[in-house]
Amino acid sequence: MNGSLGPRILVIEDEESYRDSLRVLLTREGFRVALAGTGPEGVAAFVRLGADVVLLDLMLPGLSGAGVFKKIREQSDVPIIMVTAKDDQVDKIIGLELGADDYVTKPYSGRELVARIRSVLRRTAAIPADLTSEPERLEVSGLTLDPERLMLTQGGKTSPIPPKEFALLYLLAANAGRVIPRQMIIERVWGVDYFGDTKTLDVHIKRLRDRIEADPAKPALIKTVRGVGYSLEIVDR
Ligand code: CA
Repeated sequence: MNGSLGPRILVIEDEESYRDSLRVLLTREGFRVALAGTGPEGVAAFVRLGADVVLLDLMLPGLSGAGVFKKIREQSDVPIIMVTAKDDQVDKIIGLELGADDYVTKPYSGRELVARIRSVLRRTAAIPADLTSEPERLEVSGLTLDPERLMLTQGGKTSPIPPKEFALLYLLAANAGRVIPRQMIIERVWGVDYFGDTKTLDVHIKRLRDRIEADPAKPALIKTVRGVGYSLEIVDR
């Protein structure tokens, strides 16, 4: 599958010493790390690479952290952790008013930062349990998914599923009951560098529905949430 790719963290920080130590720390913790040293670079990096979490310094040259925050929010609900200087109350208020998911105050400990990143990721479900983490057998809504053999069991019948379809179903099943945004699905199943036709996702959804729905024309399991993405319903079977 995708190998073992951890969540992607975009660090937007103008102080080189912080950038360097964050790169080392977060890489060691299993994250993929992208670094930007100015506000505009940070926005550009987000547009280019996306991220599962953004660590955003408030005081930045070029474009302030607040400006970067707004630019990113125009296109994404990615969790953003604001980094504020010292115990500056004004900074905290700005961060809260903007709606940051969390904030940390410099100087912060690496351990504390990593804990907050993981906590934000858990809260926002931005780490869907998918094939990039340790794959486990899943049972939900009458479906049993075996990621080691790419097998689906439903209604007592077991059959193999092509890898991308399986990855898509597994992602939905691991997050059953939650809507997964289209872009996140594409990133998780096809990879962040995928620039192909987004219709590919719809085609795979259709194939899955043909496979698992009692009536594919009236899907009861895989729901479309218009303008957002897809979710796998939790149903008793
Ligand atoms: Ca700064």
